[in-house]
Amino acid sequence: MRVFKFGGASVKDAAGIKNVYDVLQKVGYEDVILVVSAMGKTTNALEVVIKNYFDQSPELNSSVQEIKNYHNQIVLDLFENEKHEVFAAVDAQFTELEYFLAHNKSPNYNFVYDQIVSFGELISTTILSHFMNFMGIQTNWLDVRNFIKTNANYRDAEVDWEATEELISKNVPRKTLNITQGFLGADENNFTTTLGREGSDYTAGIFAYCLGAESVTIWKDVPGVMNADPRYFENASLLNQISYREAIELAFYGATVIHPKTLQPLQKKEIPLYVKSFINPLLKGTCVSKGVDLEPQYPCFIVKREQLLISLSSIDFSFIMEENISEIFGLFHEFKIKVNLIQNSAISFSVCVEDKFGNFNDLNAILSKKFKVDYSENVTLYTIRHFTENAAQTVEENKAVLLKQVSRETMQIVTKELN
Ligand code: ADP
Ligand code: ASP
Ligand code: MG
Repeated sequence: MRVFKFGGASVKDAAGIKNVYDVLQKVGYEDVILVVSAMGKTTNALEVVIKNYFDQSPELNSSVQEIKNYHNQIVLDLFENEKHEVFAAVDAQFTELEYFLAHNKSPNYNFVYDQIVSFGELISTTILSHFMNFMGIQTNWLDVRNFIKTNANYRDAEVDWEATEELISKNVPRKTLNITQGFLGADENNFTTTLGREGSDYTAGIFAYCLGAESVTIWKDVPGVMNADPRYFENASLLNQISYREAIELAFYGATVIHPKTLQPLQKKEIPLYVKSFINPLLKGTCVSKGVDLEPQYPCFIVKREQLLISLSSIDFSFIMEENISEIFGLFHEFKIKVNLIQNSAISFSVCVEDKFGNFNDLNAILSKKFKVDYSENVTLYTIRHFTENAAQTVEENKAVLLKQVSRETMQIVTKELN
């Protein structure tokens, strides 16, 4: 069996959905499971609905309507005939969403988030499945919540591997084209859970592992994994082969082309992961598998913007030791601030962090009671795997270097734009 994952960018409009059909015609679709994300930026749009819901904003209805209009337009472009049953199927999904918004009693933000955000994937797979049937490819729509079982840690649920493996290996039909939702799961009470933003790649990895699949292909708007994000580096080049270990490192440091959790299950069963272009599906793309670390051996660049560089030093020149460090890390964890780089000396301790939820001011108030806190906002963290002198120079050009850390394979540089 092969697992294909189509992300939001690949199904963002009617042309994208028709293209999925073309890809399947070219590469075959027997004994395949398609894992599909919400269309385009639907997950972000549903996050706005969730915010409006909790804020009791008057914009709530219009934010839902916007998502309805977007999907309706796609369905109209695909089917034209307004009598097609897909219209009722999509309507039914929206009715369910509106019913939830009108009747929910739970004040638990993360729980409510998952119940709402999941409609993105439920709707996209409904449309795609109807379209494939319409074009003559018979599909089998699976509700992923009957297969991927998780704990009740809403928004970042952990997979119950034993239950999931049993359900998937027993109940996913073979020799057919299955279509299911990325990103979603269900807890033991059958409430919807999600696996964390961008989690659909991980869903593909979970199915592949449980099915003992032959391969996973994630179809992207880029030719494969490149040695840098082509949005930011104009000379980015395609990598043909990457080992699991190297790919895990790249994803860990922030190469967003593969979700970091995807690779572990694949590596365990040595299932190859192909990253390919949905525009040129017959090109080779990148293969992540056992074997050479990186081919060709280019330095790889990963950029994280809008970071915060914080330096803590002891007020009385005492050492910053394990005890302080563990307390500091406990606080970062508590305030949901992600640490991307650490450097310490006897009396000072520097970290480059990401403050996604805007909690730094509150944290700073606590830290300042014990430490002298200095910080620079809006810095950029560059990571170069397999660095060279030249590669470092390119990064440092026209920037102020605030911190640099080098290990055997990896160089990290924190920079600030010169004004
Ligand atoms: P999906 O539609 O599957 O969610 P994403 O947008 O998450 O796709 O991932 C594809 C994007 O990842 C590309 O458009 C590209 O800008 C970005 N990207 C980041 N790092 C890399 C890299 N090293 N190689 C290729 N693409 C990268
Ligand atoms: N739709 C979800 C998100 O945008 C999951 C995914 O696309 O991977 O985060
Ligand atoms: Mg994505």
